Amino acid sequence: MPGYDFDLFVIGAGSGGVRASRMSAGYGARVAIAEERDLGGTCVNLGCIPKKLFVYASHYQEDFEDARGFGWSVGTRSFDWPTLLENKNREIARLNEIYRSLLDDQGVRRIEGHARLLDPHTVEIADQPFTTEHILIATGSWPSLPEIPGIEHAITSNEAFHLKQFPERVLIVGGGYIAAEFAGIFHGLGARTTQLYRGPLFLRGFDDDMRAGLADEMRRKGIDLRFDASVTQIERSDTGLVATLEDGDRLYADQILYATGRRPLTADLGLEAAGVELRDDGAIAVDAFSRSNIPSIWAIGDVTDRINLTPVAIHEGMALAATLFDERPTEPDHADVPCAVFSQPAIGSVGLTEAEARAAYDEIDVFRSRFRALKHTLTGQEERTVIKLLVDRKSDRVVGAHMLGPEAAEIVQGVAIAIKCGATKAQFDATIGIHPTAAEEFVTLREPVG
Ligand code: NDP
Repeated sequence: MPGYDFDLFVIGAGSGGVRASRMSAGYGARVAIAEERDLGGTCVNLGCIPKKLFVYASHYQEDFEDARGFGWSVGTRSFDWPTLLENKNREIARLNEIYRSLLDDQGVRRIEGHARLLDPHTVEIADQPFTTEHILIATGSWPSLPEIPGIEHAITSNEAFHLKQFPERVLIVGGGYIAAEFAGIFHGLGARTTQLYRGPLFLRGFDDDMRAGLADEMRRKGIDLRFDASVTQIERSDTGLVATLEDGDRLYADQILYATGRRPLTADLGLEAAGVELRDDGAIAVDAFSRSNIPSIWAIGDVTDRINLTPVAIHEGMALAATLFDERPTEPDHADVPCAVFSQPAIGSVGLTEAEARAAYDEIDVFRSRFRALKHTLTGQEERTVIKLLVDRKSDRVVGAHMLGPEAAEIVQGVAIAIKCGATKAQFDATIGIHPTAAEEFVTLREPVG
């Protein structure tokens, strides 16, 4: 549009912002993107990618043990945290570079610094104003901690990726994705690990069989998992940090990691100046097309607090580019989004939980299988895999699929395609299994549980 410096100005070069920029530029728009931290946002720098690398690292402990049952003797083992950090940092630097060239190759103008809105068509960075027809806010989210005495001694997942020294004793507070994943990571890497959750069972929102099954497995591995437990204060002592619990118990740790949720990152963005409305929880309020109450201002990803997952932000970014610059008004589709917790073992999920299915349908059938994986017949490990399908009896449609076990994320990704296509239980049953696998259980579940 003549008269403006840009057609689209994106604030935040994370997963959603970068994809929206590249796609929009590909459709011929003049695009700028502002970022004040590293390219790639939370996922690349302080989330999904380094987390998954840490999960791989931490699993070797168990793999070495498992190897014995197959005849291998594993020599002296030791773990070097600085090596893991260095290798992880090198990979992330490589990804930052890839993000940079993806943007440059597509002709997106990169601007480093903190961006602030001056009005619905002007963004300012370091006192330099840029005018634009559309503004996209894709600033993501930031860890949020409760205000208790001594909370300044705690770290968040942000710092956990850069600790100079590996902690021998770790206390993790929270019962969501991040807490469960880091409990597995620190335990696997050799720390004495305690996880506290304020409610009766962690991972609220996931299927109850997966939640309870994971709790059993984490305890079996040796994680001190405590429910209905809250910290009232944290102090520093000669022997490390001390957390006092509501029941008076005191826990000692070298690091206390709070993973108690994340808040949309909207501070100091000039949203008030532009008249952008926020929801009560601080997220930017958007319509089904990701448009805010101001027609020229849009928002995607965690800052809108819809489904806070990287692939969802990317999907929202692509939908927005199509809406704005390809004459295809596109609403992002938030139905049947699969997800995984990279706990150990992992949880993979798509569709409704049993509780949600019971509330949504008159009659549902629950199919469940709980078994010891073939591999563990020789390792001697007692770990149990759980696979579950929820079926609407009237239509025979599979409305939820869940798995707790090794490779759950890889397996459920495939199952999610079937569910997105509206597959029925009869179609699952007509599918031939791949033998011997855990995944074949998804197509061999014959009798519903009583
Ligand atoms: P979540 O929202 O998943 O979980 C927050 C946890 O902290 C909940 O157990 C919550 O309890 C608890 N909590 C909240 N406030 C307090 C408090 N004041 N005191 C004690 N406990 C509290 O947040 P995460 O930080 O784990 O992750 C943030 C988001 O990042 C996730 O929602 C997810 O969308 C995304 N993510 C996705 C991953 C993946 O796809 N594998 C991995 C990591 C993050 P309660 O349940 O009682 O409210």
